Amino acid sequence: MQPGPGAPRGSTRVVGVIGDPVTHSRSPAIHNAAFVALGLDWVYVAFPVAAGRGRDAVAAVRTLGIAGLSVTMPHKSDVAETCDELTPSAAALGSVNTVVNRDGHVVGDSTDGPGLIAALRGHGVDPAGRRVLVLGAGGAARAIVDALGRADATVTVAARRADAGARAAALAPGAAAIDFTELDIAVDAADVVVNATPIGMAGEPPPFDPTRLAPHQFVYDTVYHPSPTPLLAAALQRGIPAADGLSMLVHQAALAFTLWTGEPAPLDVMADAARAEGR
Ligand code: NAP
Repeated sequence: MQPGPGAPRGSTRVVGVIGDPVTHSRSPAIHNAAFVALGLDWVYVAFPVAAGRGRDAVAAVRTLGIAGLSVTMPHKSDVAETCDELTPSAAALGSVNTVVNRDGHVVGDSTDGPGLIAALRGHGVDPAGRRVLVLGAGGAARAIVDALGRADATVTVAARRADAGARAAALAPGAAAIDFTELDIAVDAADVVVNATPIGMAGEPPPFDPTRLAPHQFVYDTVYHPSPTPLLAAALQRGIPAADGLSMLVHQAALAFTLWTGEPAPLDVMADAARAEGR
């Protein structure tokens, strides 16, 4: 029997995502659509890897000649500790979301923050010189703060835990940390508001009064399921430019795609696949 188009062969390069859970990831659909669109002999699979086994997964990359990995919860910091080399962002964050196998030399990178920057630019917002308020101080927020600092934004981090907020703010030059109770005033002073907490995933209302938002501002919600979140709906209802986190998901994937393959990523194909997978 002849293999169908895109069916793996002996020469097929393998990449995948490690995580727990991982079977609901949209990444296989996003990357495989891109490989098919460019006619690349590559395949992307999901590898369920239990907590504590991230180091073994990196060893398997070397042993099996896997071309690269996406890394998701709970492995991002374990993998950072076992790569042969880290990019400056991955080293600053102590976290890796993309592994690249360069002939057995394993490089760890973090494309979430640059993905958010590319997403903002795609929405017509250049963060350079802008005042950006980031809600949250977890993994996504830290990657975003680091990338915003590198993109010359002026960052304020709002966190409900002061120690986590201070640690996140330390990632960007001149960034400040505030408490969630100070959010309303911080929103007034911001050009861009980025929600990097899960608030809204279960339909929770925004953690500040959205009637304070004004049309010169931009609201980015990293949450993409469900969409719109109550924050996004409130912004859009008031005519405030706003976007959900799908563009960040797609851009971080596109950056990983190019690191692995050396090819420019077909963004539209990847975005269509990401949307279709969420239906
Ligand atoms: P995480 O590491 O668990 O961090 C979550 C952060 O949100 C923490 O700072 C946490 O504070 C804070 N938080 C949670 N619930 C809160 C509440 N009710 N009020 C105030 N703060 C709250 O998670 P993560 O990996 O950063 O992910 C955060 C969200 O980002 C996810 O839900 C996901 O939707 C989104 N995300 C999107 C993309 C994308 O590509 N679009 C990528 C990654 C993540 P505590 O530490 O005090 O709990």
